[in-house]
Amino acid sequence: MENPENGPAQAETCTSCQQSDCSAKVRQFNESEEDHAVRQAIAGRMCHIKKKILILSGKGGVGKSTVAANTAAALLLEGKKVGLMDIDIHGPSIPKLLNINGVPMASAANSIEPVTAVGGLRVMSIGFFLQNRDDAVIWRGPMKFGMIRQFLSDVEWGDLDYLIVDSPPGTGDEPLSAAQLIHDVDGAIIVTTPQDIAVDDVRRSINFCRQLKIPVAGVVENMCGFVCPHCGVETDIFKRGGGVAMADQMKVPYLGAIPIDPDIVEASDNGTPYVRQFARSRAAEAFRQSIVQPLFDLEKEGKVK
Ligand code: ADP
Repeated sequence: MENPENGPAQAETCTSCQQSDCSAKVRQFNESEEDHAVRQAIAGRMCHIKKKILILSGKGGVGKSTVAANTAAALLLEGKKVGLMDIDIHGPSIPKLLNINGVPMASAANSIEPVTAVGGLRVMSIGFFLQNRDDAVIWRGPMKFGMIRQFLSDVEWGDLDYLIVDSPPGTGDEPLSAAQLIHDVDGAIIVTTPQDIAVDDVRRSINFCRQLKIPVAGVVENMCGFVCPHCGVETDIFKRGGGVAMADQMKVPYLGAIPIDPDIVEASDNGTPYVRQFARSRAAEAFRQSIVQPLFDLEKEGKVK
């Protein structure tokens, strides 16, 4: 993606930024000219994005990518301009979840146009660069860092209200790179399921955020309760209350619960955002109440910058 002759793409407006306190203005001690140029390019792009939100989970399979894709889709339905950056390098599921088969195009000035998905969502994922969906990416930390750096410096994100970042489970290279490169992540949403073992992993994600000084927007409990479509009886398949107790203990906001809904699996497998296709369902309402509304509230209260 990077052209070594031209160096990293420069975001057009970085030079016209009026913020005197922008940390990217001055080259840091021990920073090469090239690294400084990339940092400026990232700062120039991030200036145009009002809120940068990380979606994290302690373990895989709890519905993190589903939450990321549906959060982005739900914000779009509220009239926001949204980008979705999938940095789950070993398991990029966003292209499949949104049924995107397009490829990002190179645009002017050595930069990359993200793929536009339904509703105008701007999407970038390593999955776009794999020849086959089943190809395995075997990369060490520095390569992952380099890719995430290019996603931030070279992609034409444009003016966005929200950039949603779908990180792989755990506290490894990818969320660390994203947090360090974005520099001022506005909030992390941590996805868990209600059972104790998943909740234990979430504590690590919260501690990760604390160490990196990322504000925790809150914890979302996914797959919380299942209402039988035949008899209407609700069953707590993965128990209930673990997320509330843990959020209370860790002193982070509990955002809410999203029920198990077979239509979520169906919509995901078909590549349609669930909240768009089943906008009037109980789970779609839960997405709005548990994630979208808290993001708006936090913005108003100024807790998430
Ligand atoms: P992760 O990103 O945490 O690995 P995914 O988002 O890929 O998890 O979700 C794993 C599976 O669980 C997918 O098949 C998805 O459709 C399904 N899923 C996620 N959330 C729900 C839910 N609330 N109800 C039913 N199925 C769900």
